[in-house]
Amino acid sequence: MSGHPARSSLPSLAHQAMPTGNRSAAAQGTAPAAPGRDCPACPRLADFRAGSRRAEPAWHNAPVPSFGALDVPLLIVGLAPGLRGANRTGRPFTGDYAGDLLYATLAALGLADGTYGARADDGFALRGCRVTNAVRCVPPENKPTGDEIRACNGFLAAELAAMPRLRAVLALGSVAHGAVLAALGLTKSRFKFAHGARHAIGGGRTLVDSYHCSRYNTSTKVLTPAMFGDAVRIARDLARG
Ligand code: SF4
Repeated sequence: MSGHPARSSLPSLAHQAMPTGNRSAAAQGTAPAAPGRDCPACPRLADFRAGSRRAEPAWHNAPVPSFGALDVPLLIVGLAPGLRGANRTGRPFTGDYAGDLLYATLAALGLADGTYGARADDGFALRGCRVTNAVRCVPPENKPTGDEIRACNGFLAAELAAMPRLRAVLALGSVAHGAVLAALGLTKSRFKFAHGARHAIGGGRTLVDSYHCSRYNTSTKVLTPAMFGDAVRIARDLARG
């Protein structure tokens, strides 16, 4: 374990910083605690990040800030940035296969405006939802350890707490499902992950589960685009009330 402080102490972390996309919210005093560019809490991920900076200095290569406004009713939670996706572009799910499916689905369901161009500066905007990851830094082989998921959980907890209109959370995969429960202080064993499942998580909010929209899951037919669309639609409709 990295020695990362418990999430209750996050606001005093020296390595936290305000993500660029949250500055207007910060001005209103509502921005959640977010990791700084050189967050040291996960030594393995910090080493991996440093290696990627050396190899690809033009890439983002830092914790990836959440995408979308805070004052929305739906939060979508993925696993972690992909090496050549969000870690390269600096925006969750942007630049890899999972983002192609996620953002096409959001656009088709009226949850986005503009044309997704797989770049952070493509002008694509979310409507009524926000996207984040359970782990903010890219992990080797897309696999964060349990300690890394726990170390980053305070940032997810801060995210959830900073969304006053939140009504639905869509977890993409079982790791995101568990991270959301942990961030809310709920016992995982009481909420079994299943694609399309809905869980009451308190405060009138619902957690909806989906298999992760990864290339692996779609190429193996664990998840079809239609199945994914159904899960997103459930979450959207719950969020809209
Ligand atoms: S994964 Fe989260 S806690 Fe770990 S180094 Fe990155 S930002 Fe910090």
